[in-house]
Amino acid sequence: MVSDINLDSSLSNYAVFGNPINHSKSPQIHSLFAEQKGITLNYQAIEVPVDSFKDYVNSFVEQKGKGLNITVPFKGDAFSLCDILSDRADISGSVNTIWFDKDKNIYGDTTDGKGLINDLIINNEIDLNNKSILILGAGGSVRAILEPLCAQKPKQIVIANRTVSRAVQLAKIFSNHGNIQACSYADLSEKLYGQRSFDVIINGTSLSLNGRLPTIPKSTIGNTTCCYDLMYSDKETIFMKWASEQGAFKVLDGLGMLVEQAAEAFNIWHGVMPDTAPVIKQLRNVPV
Ligand code: NDP
Repeated sequence: MVSDINLDSSLSNYAVFGNPINHSKSPQIHSLFAEQKGITLNYQAIEVPVDSFKDYVNSFVEQKGKGLNITVPFKGDAFSLCDILSDRADISGSVNTIWFDKDKNIYGDTTDGKGLINDLIINNEIDLNNKSILILGAGGSVRAILEPLCAQKPKQIVIANRTVSRAVQLAKIFSNHGNIQACSYADLSEKLYGQRSFDVIINGTSLSLNGRLPTIPKSTIGNTTCCYDLMYSDKETIFMKWASEQGAFKVLDGLGMLVEQAAEAFNIWHGVMPDTAPVIKQLRNVPV
């Protein structure tokens, strides 16, 4: 048994597994949802050593834990460990929400993509239908958002990535879901896209974490472009600042996506959808 996992057997126990995990907002978000819905639970953030994911999940199950959220760097490990996957987890190769049945079968789903879509469409009224979308990056989170983005029937999705082969691979995997192309950052300013702007640009790289920008031309942003950084922080991210300076119509960070993906997980576990708007406001320190 793993000594870091000490669940309270008198409560329903949930946790988020990640590494690092100390800045996770998930315990606060799930506690606020639970309070809103009159549900009593214990939700912990647990730092899992990078080589011990399976042992930690097993220990959590042995102690009758009810559900897990999974974050960096374990979404792929969670995908491999699950016995039963939702269709959307299957195609995304990623799992961020886990639960169990009485025979200890492990179920996995990914709610990241739905979280992004809810934040864009419901919270921020960004229409994706027949729109051109530029995605920067081709990592795990981009793979998780592609299918739900395609379901909104955009005119076109262009994936640009430093390692072009990864963008090409994603475009291939999702080729039956929509009109998806892959390219390098340089291609955006040169041969492929000339001077045209996109309706929506999603930064799915981890560059903002290090205060760096993807090297894309200004011409990709017009005065009707919405720019969305999947990253969030207490301040405007460097990508948001740059996009505003280029005249973007709207700039958003990923905090709304974080709360929305948590709400979808909460609904899977508890069968009730929480109200996300007051929780987003509370996390942004805006009076509710
Ligand atoms: P991955 O590590 O899977 O992917 C990272 C991406 O960033 C890759 O496309 C990688 O390109 C690119 N990248 C990294 N360094 C550089 C660099 N120096 N120059 C150019 N490109 C670079 O990360 P995730 O997909 O898991 O996460 C991406 C972002 O999304 C993170 O900021 C994360 O915090 C955020 N996120 C937010 C969520 C939310 O709820 N708001 C949920 C999930 C993620 P390459 O392929 O060439 O290496």
